[in-house]
Amino acid sequence: MDRVYNFAAGPAAMPLPALEKARDELCAYGKTGMSVMEMSHRSKMYLEIYQKTEAAFRSVMQIPDTYAVLFLAGGATGQFAAIPMNLLPEDGVADYVDSGNFAHGAAVEAKKYGNVHVIASSREENYVRIPAFTVADLDANAAYLHITTNNTIFGTRYTKLPETGSIPLVADASSNILSEVYDINRFGVMYAGAQKNIGPAGMAVVIVRKDLMGHARAITPKIYDWAKQAEGDSMVNTPPTYTIYMAGLCLDWVAEQGGVAALEKVNIEKAALLYDCLDNSKLFKGTADPAFRSRMNVTFVTGNPDQDADFVKEAAAQGLVNLKGHRLVGGIRASIYNAMPIEGVQKLVNFMKEYEAKHV
Ligand SMILES: *Cc1c(COP(=O)(O)O)cnc(C)c1O
Repeated sequence: MDRVYNFAAGPAAMPLPALEKARDELCAYGKTGMSVMEMSHRSKMYLEIYQKTEAAFRSVMQIPDTYAVLFLAGGATGQFAAIPMNLLPEDGVADYVDSGNFAHGAAVEAKKYGNVHVIASSREENYVRIPAFTVADLDANAAYLHITTNNTIFGTRYTKLPETGSIPLVADASSNILSEVYDINRFGVMYAGAQKNIGPAGMAVVIVRKDLMGHARAITPKIYDWAKQAEGDSMVNTPPTYTIYMAGLCLDWVAEQGGVAALEKVNIEKAALLYDCLDNSKLFKGTADPAFRSRMNVTFVTGNPDQDADFVKEAAAQGLVNLKGHRLVGGIRASIYNAMPIEGVQKLVNFMKEYEAKHV
């Protein structure tokens, strides 16, 4: 069967070579005579897979030993709760930047556990940009500052990381991790749901500076206690074993492409193709402030919801699928994560031009 170009925001397209390798190994992995899905998570053969995935992650992101890398069930949303439980003392305060729906959700969840201070928000402007703030807006005693590096629904990204002085920067990088080079030393914690740029759904990758661990509140569920998880290879309970294996195959692909820096170059080209098309179009209009445009999620509209829906339908008939905008905002969204080849973006741009010629 032919594969389509899948512009879904997540779960999203994965590299075909990773899927093919998984297919080839599905029923019998190596010489084990069994599927990865059938292995005990504590078996020697599975531990090798786990350690290979962690090593690949550390290698492509150049993560030093001063950071733990955890693979935890519950996705990024689980971490919205884990972050305050691990980092925010009961009488402390945490700063949050409200730059999108997930950023908002992270702050709302944290409020259940303590004092949350939203230092900047673009909610009133429908999140078309990253709100402005400076280090002076931070609470001097904040346990951390939480940001969302790429706003999946609204198509914006931080083009520059905030300076936070000695306050740890905690970043939800669910939709742009592995798509651009980050110096992990700038972060106290970086975390990401897997289903955009890492692998299949079912877990979050949590990269934590080790000195920030070990202060979890007594009420913290042990599966969300980073220190406990770090002690035992994320195996306080059975981890998402197959998702970790698949992430390893996807990371092999990242390395084969030349690593994150090489993918970043392609991602810049892919995004430029689409934004150039939007900027020169008489029909389509980008919705994000150009100063904060995401390279992963390109959001646009025709100005007429019926026309948007017609475009999405016509595109699908051409094998360009899942272009419908998020249910909260409508319009059109092309998610172009690492696994979307530039050919797919070129085909979309060509189709947009054809469609425009017919309808303007
Ligand atoms: C998708 C997404 C989430 C939610 O991830 P889950 O794994 O579904 O919990 C959180 N934050 C951002 C930025 C996302 O893109």
